[in-house]
Amino acid sequence: MSNRQTKADVILIGAGIMSATLGSMLKELVPEWEITVFEKLANAGEESSNEWNNAGTGHAALCELNYTSEKPDGSIDISKAVKINEQFQDSMQFWSYLVNSKLIRNPQDFIMPLPHMSLVQGEQNVSFLKKRFEALSNNPLFQGMEFSDNPRKLMEWIPLIMQDRTANEAIAATKIDSGTDVNFGALTRMLFDHLKSKNVDIKYKHSVDNINRTSDGSWELKVRNADNGSVERHTAKFVFIGGGGGSLHLLQKSGIPEGKHIGGFPVSGIFMVCNNPDIVAQHHAKVYGKAKVGAPPMSVPHLDTRFIDNKKSLLFGPFAGFSPKFLKTGSMFDLVTSVKPHNVLTMLAAGAKEMSLTKYLIQQVMLSKEQRMEELREFIPSAKSEDWGLVVAGQRVQVIKDTAAGKGTLQFGTEVITAADGSIAALLGASPGASTAVSVMLEVINKCFPQHIKAWEPKIKEMIPSYGVSLLKNPELIREIHNSTGRTLGLRREPQPVL
Ligand SMILES: Cc1cc2nc3c(=O)[nH]c(=O)nc-3n(C[C@H](O)[C@H](O)[C@H](O)COP(=O)(O)OP(=O)(O)OC[C@H]3O[C@@H](n4cnc5c(N)ncnc54)[C@H](O)[C@@H]3O)c2cc1C
Repeated sequence: MSNRQTKADVILIGAGIMSATLGSMLKELVPEWEITVFEKLANAGEESSNEWNNAGTGHAALCELNYTSEKPDGSIDISKAVKINEQFQDSMQFWSYLVNSKLIRNPQDFIMPLPHMSLVQGEQNVSFLKKRFEALSNNPLFQGMEFSDNPRKLMEWIPLIMQDRTANEAIAATKIDSGTDVNFGALTRMLFDHLKSKNVDIKYKHSVDNINRTSDGSWELKVRNADNGSVERHTAKFVFIGGGGGSLHLLQKSGIPEGKHIGGFPVSGIFMVCNNPDIVAQHHAKVYGKAKVGAPPMSVPHLDTRFIDNKKSLLFGPFAGFSPKFLKTGSMFDLVTSVKPHNVLTMLAAGAKEMSLTKYLIQQVMLSKEQRMEELREFIPSAKSEDWGLVVAGQRVQVIKDTAAGKGTLQFGTEVITAADGSIAALLGASPGASTAVSVMLEVINKCFPQHIKAWEPKIKEMIPSYGVSLLKNPELIREIHNSTGRTLGLRREPQPVL
């Protein structure tokens, strides 16, 4: 036991993209606040935010078919796609602000332009994609989207996918050139370097074991120093639980009533990776397909060009799977120890409802490499086993909670849980994920610091010019943002005309 004790204004738990984003925003809003970060691993961005643990898609709903659903009357509901696109524009603006202010440099080290495509087969799916294209392409947020069901055009767009294709089935794709590949690991590390230069105290190899309220309303954290095994006590007026999969346990330890009746369901992921330069050179896009029947939305298969450490590679997946761990570096007891008296009924209800999902995930874990290759060959008919290896991706802990849809309902989105007095906030869930970090952290700021928002608003607007404005209703602002963020982040977009 050590006597080491500190007091800070803000403690961020976890050195992933979420804490990095919140810390960077708060440092701009109130530079004088003292911020401390505790991370149990030796470096920043080692769990889900790491470049090899996620797909690096800048999710703007340009290609993900699960963000646009077909309504019973056959029309396409684009409301979720619009929301996610607007959230991604917040991220693009904040990253541009950081680059323009020279707080981070070399945007090409974390973001690259890359066409985003959706690809479907079969008459019914082609008709869905066409309707989706018609619903989106007239919308200023999705300007520049193209559709084709002409195999010759598709061969130009995606030669690796189209060559050696023998089936005569209908096939179609949409393509939009304003998509991105984002190295969230590199961005996380850049943001932590920046925070360090602003005197944020970042403690690696420090694991937060417990969180308790003190008599003056602050929070006291029990922190274990992995280097020497000592236990330290640190207090802060505001705590953000940005522990990724580790957040649920920490939220439960805080004891706040808002954290009760919530459970977590871990879904693991595996990608296939190709580093053969001859094959890599034949593909330049993120191509999203349709999820298989029974598959959860986060396991939509996609074939992506990735830019990691100045090298191009191809990634295919993710194959979902089941592991009881909540973090890649977590414990086999994570799932069991997350069941508490207050959430046991919620968890049991979800268990009963989601038997088919659990079965699906277990089947996925059991797939052999050759079976995974067969799934890949639905994208690249000529794919050879020797060109592809496996990479274990990060863990996603999906939120389980009681909703109007019933007890123990599995959620696929992100949930910000805050104490009524705003003194502590936790982020649960992992979708759309890192791409929407800026918008989600703005939600944390709004919920936890309502008393400061008025004073902070001019600075927030400087960082995110569209803050508080509906982009959809302001096509001129969309054009300005696309042009300015594209220029600053080196995405080399052609200037867009006003619609
Ligand atoms: C397979 C997969 C694919 C994905 N693809 C995409 C994608 O294409 N695009 C996208 O935008 N998002 C994607 N995501 C989601 C995205 O990766 C996550 O939403 C995001 O990285 C979460 O960031 P975070 O900071 O909350 O968590 P993390 O990056 O996991 O960071 C949490 C940190 O907290 C630390 N920690 C945990 N517990 C403690 C503790 N008790 N004490 C101290 N430290 C602790 C952990 O060690 C870790 O470093 C994907 C995720 C997965 C798993």
